Amino acid sequence: MIIVRVSTTHRRSRALSHDLAKPLRPGARPARKNHRRPWRSIASSIAALAAVTLVSACGAPAGSDPSDRTDGADGNGNGTGPKVMASFYPLQWLTQEIAGSQITVSSLTPKGAEPHDSELELSQVSALGEADLLVTLGGFQAAVDQAVEANPPKAVLDAADVVPVEGDDPHFWLDPTLMAELATPVAEALAQADPAGGPGYVERANATAAALKDLDQELSAGLSDFKGSILVTTHAAFNYLSARYGLDAMSIVGVDPEVEPSPARIAEVAQQLTGLKVKTIYFEDQASPKTAEVLADRLGLATAVLNPIENDNAGDYLQTMRSNLTALQSGLESP
Ligand SMILES: [Zn+2]
Repeated sequence: MIIVRVSTTHRRSRALSHDLAKPLRPGARPARKNHRRPWRSIASSIAALAAVTLVSACGAPAGSDPSDRTDGADGNGNGTGPKVMASFYPLQWLTQEIAGSQITVSSLTPKGAEPHDSELELSQVSALGEADLLVTLGGFQAAVDQAVEANPPKAVLDAADVVPVEGDDPHFWLDPTLMAELATPVAEALAQADPAGGPGYVERANATAAALKDLDQELSAGLSDFKGSILVTTHAAFNYLSARYGLDAMSIVGVDPEVEPSPARIAEVAQQLTGLKVKTIYFEDQASPKTAEVLADRLGLATAVLNPIENDNAGDYLQTMRSNLTALQSGLESP
């Protein structure tokens, strides 16, 4: 396996993890917690699979001759381009935009699934070992990290080597300028896997970065009246977005959206919000609105959806970011 080297001034921790609720503070990031999920029942199968892969690799060294490849561009035996995978939706979206329509970038997180706690199917681990490139965020999904170790693809591009992923908050993709920083490294990694496609990858990377910069300008302009506004969400997914556009992010639970806050935590947050300029509690489309509703009821506030774009349910990344802008403009209170 080749770890794709990228020039970067930001080498960040790989130990991103999830966290329980922390005291509510504007812009607070959850503290680090060791989060090594046991790999459950498929671990032994993986070991066996890795052994099988090793044996077959001896016969045909990985990456020895791309022209030997008779399998497909989409991991299903279709097409003739490189097999490219991404670990979850925002990285799949970006890689797909740059790879172009001739290549189908598949995701290791099942359609509609929540990536924080995702587990891999054995067939996905098997497909990973056949891939020419995986674009991933090391430290975010333990199951993906372990699969990469057990059955490595030919090359890995780790977004955490490129963008400034801080502490254990993985949600960098909600800052479009950080997504734009990934465009060229993704194009370079694709070109290493498929030199003939290089010029196309560079061209589409430039177009994608430009679209992300346009989106950033729309968000900047659209949120310029809300600098210093308090953004209250259930899931702590919006620190990067808030940092970029001058909001004060506060969350009820931590980085993991599936954690339910205790009644004591709800009471604590209610007390902290009393008297602050807040009119909306945001929740994410995938999670139950219950936490937000309980709190909003108690304080006489509204609730609204804000999408952390962790999977492809909501549609296209750019569109969903624009829907988020609209939701913020109608739900935030100017400071
Ligand atoms: Zn999240």
